[in-house]
Amino acid sequence: EPAIYLVATPIGNLGDITLRAIETLAGADILACEDTRVTRILLERYGISRRMFAYHEHNEQAAAQKLIDAVNEGKSVALCSDAGTPLISDPGYRLVSTAREAGVKVVPLPGPSALLAALSASGLPSDAFFFAGFLPNKASQRKTRLDQLAHIPGTLIFYESPRRLPQSLAAMAEVLGESRRAVVARELTKTFEEFRSAPLGELAAHYAEAESIRGEIVVCIEPPLQEEIAGEADIDRMLRDLAGQMS
Ligand code: SAM
Repeated sequence: EPAIYLVATPIGNLGDITLRAIETLAGADILACEDTRVTRILLERYGISRRMFAYHEHNEQAAAQKLIDAVNEGKSVALCSDAGTPLISDPGYRLVSTAREAGVKVVPLPGPSALLAALSASGLPSDAFFFAGFLPNKASQRKTRLDQLAHIPGTLIFYESPRRLPQSLAAMAEVLGESRRAVVARELTKTFEEFRSAPLGELAAHYAEAESIRGEIVVCIEPPLQEEIAGEADIDRMLRDLAGQMS
């Protein structure tokens, strides 16, 4: 059926793919992927040989319109990224938002995503969480973002690169507090999968001294203590208390 199919693909272990994803990748009229070389490895594993079309951040706008035109001409389009779920810190947002505005059908094919794999096995509260993606590179912007996230009443989830991990953990410990528990999930679904759980201060110290940090990383941080969650009512009360002290 003509539509844009968002196909989740493995985040490391090539076995993590649904039957529906394989059928869709094999059967779609157009296969759009972030990096054709990466997706080719997956297709080869499942005996699929297809011509692919590159869809990445540098050609998103023009490519999105072409793909939408193709669906309007009766074709089916499968979109996948290098790993995990498209649009999750990956290209695709422009395509999906434009498609929705144009009334073009969009069909998700759920599957792996590093954030849910990390959260589900982290041991941290999973009833409410906030996915914050990658922190900004610049120290001042990183601190501002962490300040904004500090009082969210749920587990925080970040994507990180091994190179930046030590400085990010140090900033998290400084802004969110050394004692807030966190989990560094590394190399999910791969041979050297590892979960390291400790207060932020300890994690920052550990990775500051680690010789070499490799692989792909998700950081999950427990929610703030109840008394640290400032709601509007708390702020009103604080202001009234302050006013009371001054009179
Ligand atoms: N679309 C992907 C998803 O659904 O998870 C995320 C793509 S984003 C460009 C890549 C980042 O995801 C990595 O830098 C890392 O933070 C995280 N990631 C992806 N695969 C991972 C894995 N196997 N283990 C840990 N983190 C992973």
